[in-house]
Amino acid sequence: MNKPLITLTVAAALLSSSFSATAATLIHAGKAFTGTSKKLLSNVTIVVEDNKIASVQKGFTRAQEGDTVIDLKGATVMPGLMDMHVHLSSQHGGPQTYLERFSLNEADYALRAANYAEVTLNAGFTTVRNLGDGYNETVALRNAIAKGYASGPRIYTAAKSIATTGGHADPSNGMSHLLRPDVGPKQGVANGEVEAREAVRARYQDGADLIKITATGGVLSVAKSGQNPQFMTDELEAIVATAKDYGMTVAVHAHGKEGMMRAIEAGVDSIEHGTFMDDEIRNLMKKHGTYYVPTILAGKFVADKAKIDGFFPELVRPKAAAIGPLIQNTFAEAHKAGVKIAFGTDSGVSAHGDNAQEFSLMVDAGMKPIDALLSATVNSAELLGIDDILGTLEQGKLADIVAIPGNPLEDISLMERVSFVMKDGVVYRQ
Ligand SMILES: [Zn+2]
Repeated sequence: MNKPLITLTVAAALLSSSFSATAATLIHAGKAFTGTSKKLLSNVTIVVEDNKIASVQKGFTRAQEGDTVIDLKGATVMPGLMDMHVHLSSQHGGPQTYLERFSLNEADYALRAANYAEVTLNAGFTTVRNLGDGYNETVALRNAIAKGYASGPRIYTAAKSIATTGGHADPSNGMSHLLRPDVGPKQGVANGEVEAREAVRARYQDGADLIKITATGGVLSVAKSGQNPQFMTDELEAIVATAKDYGMTVAVHAHGKEGMMRAIEAGVDSIEHGTFMDDEIRNLMKKHGTYYVPTILAGKFVADKAKIDGFFPELVRPKAAAIGPLIQNTFAEAHKAGVKIAFGTDSGVSAHGDNAQEFSLMVDAGMKPIDALLSATVNSAELLGIDDILGTLEQGKLADIVAIPGNPLEDISLMERVSFVMKDGVVYRQ
């Protein structure tokens, strides 16, 4: 879909010439998950004026002349979903993916990102955190979407991830020395406190909203270890302190325990993947209020693909086979222990638009469906620091509203069938 179906502001402007009262959109919801309680409400009307929720009323309110009614009596309406870990500018397509960085340019990635952003929005995700791109293409995309040049979710982007030399997200990994570019803080590669500060400031200069670092090895990088620590404590402390100066949070890719421990103690905001966390790490996260963003879906994807000969380079395959299958259990243990959890998929590893498959994986691992919904709304809004404007269906919040057919508390897989999407008061899917 290329164009919003209804532009409320335009509709309101047209109607205001003939009617004195402000035209509203009334959403008649059979059920509603508002994010303000652990129960679903039945038969409510959500009144949207301009780009905001004007009220949530009991029963099906009658429309005044000029109002638009959206009939979702057979659906469950909820706040727009949020995915705290996506990579909009790429999607893993097997062996050729590793060659693309030699053949594609910034514009190629940007145009792909625009497509994947639209797919993501249509799946009901109205807000995402983009945790790593190549050339700031998601900064440009964020701005284009905000200006209405492209359809997609609200993007909070880390722009280029920050790594250490040879670490996960060093863009020169796996190249012969003849091809290997000289990369430093501006390209997101930093060693030592001074460069760590410069790398954070370079992201600020590039227009990033937050910082992403790779505190341990990773599965898909062309490097041997998937879990060794890759930043030292002084570097982590420099990153966190510098990020704070610019009002930015720090999201941390981590699989191994030592790297996680150093990062949490340095005061980062979220641990992504977190594969080898144990009791000590879980307690430390609770003590510091660190969020866990699980990405079970990515774990499943790489574990499946590791079974296919040639899908991954030989350096990657054993890491994918070893780490991938563990994440669902890591999530189960973290949830049981009471670690704060925000919804995240690492989409771009798995296909964009499949984000909602994570809900079933969370529920299979022991989370109640209602808590899975909270993780993708209220908790994610809190992690982003936007819980004053988004994350619940409440008066005064921005009108990011989605709906699914049926009751997600009875069948969580219905989350994969989003049938209605409104973002900022504009209907994108109905
Ligand atoms: Zn990622």
